[in-house]
Amino acid sequence: MAELLMDGIEKKYDGGSFAIKNFDLQIKDKEFVVFVGPSGCGKSTVLRMIAGLEKATAGSIYIDGKVLDKKMAANGDIAMVFQNYALYPHMSVYDNIAYSMKIKKVPKRQIKENVEKVADMLGLKEVLKRKPGQLSGGQKQRVAIGKALIRTPKVFLMDEPLSNLDAKLRTQMRMEIKELYKHSDATFVYVTHDQTEAMTLGTKIVVLNNGKIQQASTPKELYNKP
Ligand code: ADP
Ligand code: ADP
Repeated sequence: MAELLMDGIEKKYDGGSFAIKNFDLQIKDKEFVVFVGPSGCGKSTVLRMIAGLEKATAGSIYIDGKVLDKKMAANGDIAMVFQNYALYPHMSVYDNIAYSMKIKKVPKRQIKENVEKVADMLGLKEVLKRKPGQLSGGQKQRVAIGKALIRTPKVFLMDEPLSNLDAKLRTQMRMEIKELYKHSDATFVYVTHDQTEAMTLGTKIVVLNNGKIQQASTPKELYNKP
């Protein structure tokens, strides 16, 4: 559970123009915020700044009133799932999911307990010994989610997590993410191109255009206009 505040955020990449400008946004505890907008409007940049992977050139991001820093992101309080899964190809599913706990030197028994719990929840128990190359797209995405969930993040970031999946799997995973949200205390921030995903998952939808917030509203307000 966490409250996020983005205050006067600007981001300018070296040699580029502003990717994000005049950006103010408050995300409350347990909200599910979905960013939508055309390619290049700055959605990923916003997510990467919250993840601590990219530094804002102006403004501050606060998490529960504290200025976000690299340490907080590395702590496991903030986790991110990427579109291309970002799994370690040479490691088993078990070791992929366990990775962030292993590098933190968490005792093996506890790692095992957590991995098995997450694997159970995500339907991965039967494939723990496989390598990512031996998994379906949906399984890979579940591993990526498991990898992020293992340390019970307060903020859960997902950048187009379903866009590499076929339509049927996308529908299924969408419902799984909704369930995950229902049973989690985390605040979710999600990027998608898919209007159905935005509508079914979001408690708030933020439309970005050219690095600026064009509109922030509930799915109903946004899509049920006369
Ligand atoms: P979206 O996720 O909405 O497609 P991005 O956040 O990826 O948008 O990109 C926003 C803008 O910033 C784009 O104009 C893009 O070209 C630029 N941009 C993104 N990443 C970088 C980078 N590493 N270096 C330079 N420009 C970048
Ligand atoms: P050790 O036996 O050396 O004490 P562990 O029991 O923690 O270590 O497991 C060692 C390795 O075995 C892990 O890194 C993982 O690759 C694999 N492993 C452990 N438990 C499972 C499991 N339930 N399913 C699949 N692989 C597992």
